[in-house]
Amino acid sequence: MTESSSALDQLTFSDPVTRYPTLSPPKQHQAEPGLDRDLEPSADRGEQTYRGLGRLEGRKALITGADSGIGAAVAIAFAREGADVALGYLPAEGDDAKVVISLIEAAGRKAVALPGDLSDPEYASSLPDRAAEELGGLDAVVNNAGRQIAVEDIADLPPEQWEDTFATNIHAMFRVTQAAVPHLPPGSTIVNSTSIQAYDPSAHLLDYASTKAAINNFTKGVAQQLAPKGIRVNAVAPGPVWTVLQVSDGQPKDALPEFGQDVWMGRAGHPVELAPAYVFLTSAESSYVVGETLHVNGGKTSP
Ligand code: NAD
Ligand code: MG
Repeated sequence: MTESSSALDQLTFSDPVTRYPTLSPPKQHQAEPGLDRDLEPSADRGEQTYRGLGRLEGRKALITGADSGIGAAVAIAFAREGADVALGYLPAEGDDAKVVISLIEAAGRKAVALPGDLSDPEYASSLPDRAAEELGGLDAVVNNAGRQIAVEDIADLPPEQWEDTFATNIHAMFRVTQAAVPHLPPGSTIVNSTSIQAYDPSAHLLDYASTKAAINNFTKGVAQQLAPKGIRVNAVAPGPVWTVLQVSDGQPKDALPEFGQDVWMGRAGHPVELAPAYVFLTSAESSYVVGETLHVNGGKTSP
């Protein structure tokens, strides 16, 4: 993050095109799932730039993939808005999670670490119970975890890969949602991380983009079921956002230096720019918004 951008928070009037410099990340690689700690350049997850306004005072939230990227920005924002947070993440991501947990605690909120692998059905189904137990209830779920591995040719796409992508991105969302609902009182919310890829799939992301289309459909269906119970389900569809997902095989290596430059604003987004959408859809401010997908993509094909 540059010095000039560190002075800006999400409430400061500024030119969105120049809020962040256009990224031209060096070619780099991390083994999946990768760590934000080693991302170059580092992304803005709101550490110095997200200002809370008490919009989630007293809420109890479970956020999957909360250790890094968009999930970390959402966790930091939720805590600064007044929520206690249970964090799901892979055990290998403990170092990233520690940083986010200390930021949640610095905001005066409770943080509960619940590491595990969402492709394991038992872990996925147990996550909401464990979050509710530790937080003393549950009224917000953010199904954000996801994996994205680029493969140029379907001939080279191993069945294990697309099966694991489906297990992590969509099967786990069914399990977490199913297990969460019995805990959720009226007024609760679920927000799912989908993607621009649900509408405008890249050829090299066959399995990933398919799961994101499924998430959109799941969101609209389950939203209809739960709306009469006072539980609102919505989704956020990010465009190109600078996160470690992109350097742990999420993009072909050669694509990294131009990452995100094809949107109308000409630059990739930072995770903190996604957080207000999740806050809005979780807060009571959005009480009449349901089954919606909020596009946060710097200007790209949106339906
Ligand atoms: P990220 O790598 O920082 O976050 C993804 C997280 O998913 C990881 O930190 C990890 O904790 C979790 N995860 C992956 N596999 C898991 C598993 N098997 N078990 C448990 N947790 C697992 O990257 P991100 O870009 O912040 O991704 C967050 C969400 O945003 C994902 O659903 C992604 O598809 C979506 N998204 C990202 C972009 C983008 O450009 N970065 C664009 C559209 C959508
Ligand atoms: Mg991570």
